[in-house]
Amino acid sequence: MNRPNAQPVASHFVDGAYVEDTAGAPIEVIYPATGEVIATVHEATEAVIEQALASAARAQVAWAATDPAERGRVLKRAAGMIRARNRELSVLETLDTGKPLQETLVADAASGADALEYFGGLAVDVTGTSMQFGGDWAYTIRRPLGVCVGIGAWNYPTQIACWKGAPALATGNAMIFKPSEATPLCALKVAEILVEAGLPAGLFNVVQGRGAVGGALTGDARVAKVSLTGSVPTGRKVAGAASGAMKHVTMELGGKSPILVFEDADLEDAISGAINGNFYSSGQICSNGTRVFVHEDIAEAFLTRLADRLEGVVMGDPLDEAVNYGPMTTEAQADIVMRYLQVARTEGARVVTGGTRLDREGAWIAPTVLADLTDDMTVVREEVFGPVMSVLTFRDEDEVIARANATQFGLSAGLFTRDITRAHRVVAQLMAGTCWINQYNLTPAGMPFGGSRQSGIGRENARMAMDHFTEVQTVYVGMSKVEAAF
Ligand code: NAD
Repeated sequence: MNRPNAQPVASHFVDGAYVEDTAGAPIEVIYPATGEVIATVHEATEAVIEQALASAARAQVAWAATDPAERGRVLKRAAGMIRARNRELSVLETLDTGKPLQETLVADAASGADALEYFGGLAVDVTGTSMQFGGDWAYTIRRPLGVCVGIGAWNYPTQIACWKGAPALATGNAMIFKPSEATPLCALKVAEILVEAGLPAGLFNVVQGRGAVGGALTGDARVAKVSLTGSVPTGRKVAGAASGAMKHVTMELGGKSPILVFEDADLEDAISGAINGNFYSSGQICSNGTRVFVHEDIAEAFLTRLADRLEGVVMGDPLDEAVNYGPMTTEAQADIVMRYLQVARTEGARVVTGGTRLDREGAWIAPTVLADLTDDMTVVREEVFGPVMSVLTFRDEDEVIARANATQFGLSAGLFTRDITRAHRVVAQLMAGTCWINQYNLTPAGMPFGGSRQSGIGRENARMAMDHFTEVQTVYVGMSKVEAAF
């Protein structure tokens, strides 16, 4: 496949332009399908971080005072430009992450554009309330928070930048976005397009770096909010640092989500849901349903048909649109997944299919299905963040609800049944922020997305995200003489 040049103009995008400072430590960008270095960026130095913070703080004041209709128009223009450049951006997403082009053409820039369009439309609709107290009254105004920081995971670099940037900008904030050091390329394009669409300089800055750069941004007194997509341990650190300084936080963290397949489920749909919820993006999706509980009456049929369906996996160069399954995004993650598989075998799991690292360049792991599992096994309890589906069996509804909820996580859950009463009864008892009935992992921009318990706090997307990027100012209006004791 002909591979385009992935090297960005410069490492950072700050104050409306590409910025370079080679004094920062280099970060090599690896094409995960082959292990080749395809670009190099540099970590943000103190000077770059300062430029990002100062320009964001300056630009935000004027942006907050801009007619929301104009703010919305900028975001909607950017959405249109992203759609027009979908193929180019999807190729970049594939180079950055290794996800197949077949996937990125429909799931990444497209989802980013959806968020920009959705929040662009809502920008004019940030409303307050009013209340009467006799002759006096009070009203509320929703005000932007100021300078917000977005910190991304590696799996959806375009989408995460847009899901955080769009509601922040629609409500009058500035955003400084730090992509994952594993996938630094795509957010730069989002910044470039926003400026081309008319976003004033300084409002969406992208700075590169590892955790320390994220930490420096989180700790700066000019920052009012931090929105992180990442693992639970990082979430604890970032939320701790931010909330210690009374900053707002949104935490989109990891999960170990259940999919419940009842005996009356449409088997093909349930298998499709389990495939999408375990092998899309080679399993590197936070909301994946990695604990698949199948009713014991249909468990054998489920496993047999699942193994047939996995014959349809096509591996190869992710830029080839016939390929539907890619590598892990990083070598380090591939090592983590292989360690989990080793432990699973030691603890007695049966490998139904996959379980191996492929003998080729790049970080490839075959889609893996495990069976003969118990709920206390490591692979059933911990987030693997790779293409590993754990299939467990159950006998009755109360039992499976209790087992599905027996986790510290609470990001997502899914269930497959034709019984609508059971569907709603069960879903109401699942401890998860985002649930699907007879579907899995679809996340339109108009639907709140996020986790409960250790999986996070706050929600992305939908009108709710606007609330999370604003705060309420209450104004009491006195209409009569002021009474005082003396
Ligand atoms: P990670 O936690 O290692 O890193 C996430 C980001 O945090 C990176 O940009 C990293 O540089 C930064 N970071 C690390 N330490 C920091 C610190 N002390 N201060 C500030 N920033 C810091 O996560 P990852 O390995 O990139 O991504 C995988 C994880 O993300 C998985 O657990 C997955 O479930 C989760 N995830 C969650 C969602 C969601 O929406 N809930 C989406 C995608 C991924």
